[in-house]
Amino acid sequence: SPALAAPAVKTTCPYCGVGCGVLATPDGQGGVAIAGDPEHPANFGRLCSKGSALGETVDLQDRLLKPMVDGQVASWEGALGAVAGGLKRIAERHGPDSIAFYLSGQLLTEDYYVANKLAKGFLGTPHVDTNSRLCMSSAVAAHRRAFGSDTVPGCYEDLDEADLIVLVGSNAAWCHPILFRRMIDARAKRGAKIVTIDPRRTQTGEEADLHLGLMPGTDTALFSGLLVHLAEAGRLDARFVAEHTAGFDGALERARQIAPSAEATAQATGLATGDVQAFFDLFAATQKVVTGFSQGVNQSAQGTDKGNAIINCHLATGRIGKPGMGPLSLTGQPNAMGGREVGGLANMLAAHMHFAPEEVDRVRRFWKAPNIITGEGMKAVALFEAIERGKIKALWVMGTNPLVSMPRADRIRDAVRQLDLYVVSEAIATSDSACATGKKTVLLPALAWGEKDGTVTNSERRISRQRAFLKAPGEARADWAIMGDVARRLGHGDAFAYRSAAEIFREHAALSAFENDGARDFDIGGLADLSDRAYDGYLPAQWPLPKRGTEAKGRARLFADGRFFTFDRRARFVAVQPPALAQGVSPERPLVLNTGRVRDHWHTMTRTGKSQRLSAHRAVPFVEVHPDDAARFGLKDGGFARVASEVGTAILEVTVTDGVRPGAIFVPMHWSDMTSSDGRGAALARGVTDPVSGQPELKATPAGIAPV
Ligand code: SF4
Repeated sequence: SPALAAPAVKTTCPYCGVGCGVLATPDGQGGVAIAGDPEHPANFGRLCSKGSALGETVDLQDRLLKPMVDGQVASWEGALGAVAGGLKRIAERHGPDSIAFYLSGQLLTEDYYVANKLAKGFLGTPHVDTNSRLCMSSAVAAHRRAFGSDTVPGCYEDLDEADLIVLVGSNAAWCHPILFRRMIDARAKRGAKIVTIDPRRTQTGEEADLHLGLMPGTDTALFSGLLVHLAEAGRLDARFVAEHTAGFDGALERARQIAPSAEATAQATGLATGDVQAFFDLFAATQKVVTGFSQGVNQSAQGTDKGNAIINCHLATGRIGKPGMGPLSLTGQPNAMGGREVGGLANMLAAHMHFAPEEVDRVRRFWKAPNIITGEGMKAVALFEAIERGKIKALWVMGTNPLVSMPRADRIRDAVRQLDLYVVSEAIATSDSACATGKKTVLLPALAWGEKDGTVTNSERRISRQRAFLKAPGEARADWAIMGDVARRLGHGDAFAYRSAAEIFREHAALSAFENDGARDFDIGGLADLSDRAYDGYLPAQWPLPKRGTEAKGRARLFADGRFFTFDRRARFVAVQPPALAQGVSPERPLVLNTGRVRDHWHTMTRTGKSQRLSAHRAVPFVEVHPDDAARFGLKDGGFARVASEVGTAILEVTVTDGVRPGAIFVPMHWSDMTSSDGRGAALARGVTDPVSGQPELKATPAGIAPV
């Protein structure tokens, strides 16, 4: 008789920070049919090219299915013993702070929580950072400086209700496609205008009403000029500024020094004065404005200032936390926000707490942690430099591929070889990071999307469930379960005796509410008592979700009451620095290299590379060059060029386009040595870091180019 159709499982897309709901219907033979979830409030049934091709990525080819120790298949017993024994020995010999973890915005919140608890509470090392450092740590820092907390004030609905949508450093049409469709719908329905601000004229810029193709790195000049214009045009919300903010005068004075007029702004940014004036007038005249900002802002040695220059303009006009208005950080990864919530960044502890003595003590008591850390650890770039110097002896990488995605990736590969213990929790056996080796190398097979259970938080603070609909293949296990077994071997079994992701989530929720009288933004105490069944059936909701009050469905917006999370409940203006690229061009390296995404690939292609359909969009790694530069350097469209920076080289197919500015080139980030020899984009960046956030510059690296 015909097999009964399996019911569709509601889950969440594992790619970008939009966090679309997915209906996955397994075919019973390892495959799955994919559709958008019409009930999920992020996408209402839509999926982009990557999301709809998810079914083409779940096969077991190239999967890591058994533990490996030093290149040999091992038992779980042997592999876990090697990890626990190695960590113990290294901690005794060199101190616990010679151990580091490098995590990922691909991890589920429950895995992320356990990793942080193990490292920061029990092993006693502060050196836990994540690939989210490369993604939106500057937005985190800007939020904290302005609001006193890492709080996204608004939500996706604001895009439906805005009359002006400004996108800064964001190719949303390719990188947040479903959200961009929502913006296009808003334009069709209510005539909203879309302005893009980006040195590249991407697909998003092509569809905008006004595109400002400014010079790389000059965003702070543009938004300083805007702040001056708002003040001089009498468009400030003087009452909001007086009653709910501090620091306005200093920020305005600095803005006047940077860009005192539209003409000066045009000069500083390389834009036409008429375009600058048109943008200023539009922003000033429109009450309902959302400014979405993404990697073009964050991946910069001045990323935090860029974020604050944007937020300054929203605070000055009181356009925050109300329907249709506010700054909106578009996160790159599916669980970048969840990682922030559990303290996945080296400068955070847990549940949005930091390192004030009372916060350290609170987390220590909650975890009953014997070795709680008391200060920040090293951020990603510094952490890998510490491996090079021999300060870090053991590294545990989970769910990410730093040998491709980190700046100066060639040096990172060399650094890893020096590690006494190199542990990689991975789903894909052929990732560059899984194929590298330290003196002792342990590969741990992890569950992938469709096999694991837990939660993720999207760009609008919405917590959704990822649900398993496939059997665990081979000997793969959940990351939290693997870490629990290591913790038990280290004598911390009681604190890690979890039997399910639901148990971990309840603990995480309880910590967020522990001694939280409303002074901390992240409170999901209302979920701390979810039964296993309620966790299974949990519907997406936006935090805060506190126990008290009636906000069972969460809160769409914060700060409408003008109360922020600083000690005096006032938001802060920030006096930003004038724009300056961290590294200038030279005769040897006369071009400014920008890196980024293409429409149909995700990160280092370990999943999207399996889909022929997705791979067909851009089949080989390429460099975009302006026609003037193509003529200057003797490059032909479709030919090949060697791009060389201070730290690396790549051989890339040439695409000649006036979408990039003269003097600028663009290289995608996705290709690795495994998928294309010499095609790595991020490896070309030196990774000069933002002094506040520690996020590396990936958008402006001096480079030379020549035909091959
Ligand atoms: Fe997935 Fe993002 Fe596409 Fe939605 S927009 S389907 S979350 S990649």
